[in-house]
Amino acid sequence: MSVLVVGSIALDSVKTPVEAHENLLGGSASYASVAASFFSPVQLIGVVGDDFPKEHIDLFGCRGIDLEGLQVVPGKTFRWSGEYQWDFNSRETLSVALNVFEHFTPKLPQAASNAPYVLLANIAPGLQSHVLDQSQGARFVIADTMDLWINIAKDDLLALLRRVDMLILNDSEARQLTGETSLIRAGSAIRRLGPRFVAIKKGEHGCLLFSEDAFFSCGAYPLEDIHDPTGAGDAFAGGLAGYLASLNPEEVTFDHLRKAVVYGSVLASFNVEAFSLGRLQQIGSEEIAQRYDTFRRMTHFELVS
Ligand code: AMP
Repeated sequence: MSVLVVGSIALDSVKTPVEAHENLLGGSASYASVAASFFSPVQLIGVVGDDFPKEHIDLFGCRGIDLEGLQVVPGKTFRWSGEYQWDFNSRETLSVALNVFEHFTPKLPQAASNAPYVLLANIAPGLQSHVLDQSQGARFVIADTMDLWINIAKDDLLALLRRVDMLILNDSEARQLTGETSLIRAGSAIRRLGPRFVAIKKGEHGCLLFSEDAFFSCGAYPLEDIHDPTGAGDAFAGGLAGYLASLNPEEVTFDHLRKAVVYGSVLASFNVEAFSLGRLQQIGSEEIAQRYDTFRRMTHFELVS
């Protein structure tokens, strides 16, 4: 099974209390597609300008990602810059330049339109819907979003939610979208907006997973050193979607979703160990399997008498 990933492809400038780097490969679709590629074939849909370094295209190619749906157009690539506070958790966006993204109209090549799994990584919900309009094979659709779209494109987001199987968002976004302070209430409220499954991320405190009749709470993998939290949510979504895409969509159970959330957390934990996609470029399936197993043993418990 393959997964279509659409989202932003960016050149980022990132500042943490310890280090600062400019012109890094970033964007929701970059992180998500590379994370997903450890599990399943990936078709990437996005746009970059003619200033986009070839080494980044090569990185996607090395991961076996299908780039037929990647548009390279005259102009500058989308740029974002952000700065993290001392806790590496709160972040301020310093600048956003849409550039070629401003006139981006996603076009799905035939192979991508047949993909059974679709990951709508974070971009404007109108664009996410436009991708779904072109999809012929979608059987399991996962969407990510952010506070910006809840603020400025809520109607588009609500229309999209009626068409997706799963929504991934963080705790403050879940509260913002529903007006609920309790995340448990928020999870149920979001399900009533359309998605059968909802994953609410809580940063270093893990993630909550909701379905109609089941609930799963998962911690985060304990890391001593975080170098750059950028893209953790996108790597989580990519790992989750990539693992699911190794399964037949009709056979996905809640236990598979639990496993997908743990794989997503594992990919997110690797991602924050270096700036940009530095760490995702180094790891392989064996390290992912090892960390998954360590994580499983850390969170698994049995009652002893
Ligand atoms: P995350 O840390 O998961 O929130 O994702 C960070 C990535 O999102 C960065 O690499 C940015 O390039 C990208 N990004 C920031 N703002 C936007 C936006 N408005 N639309 C799409 N992608 C964005």
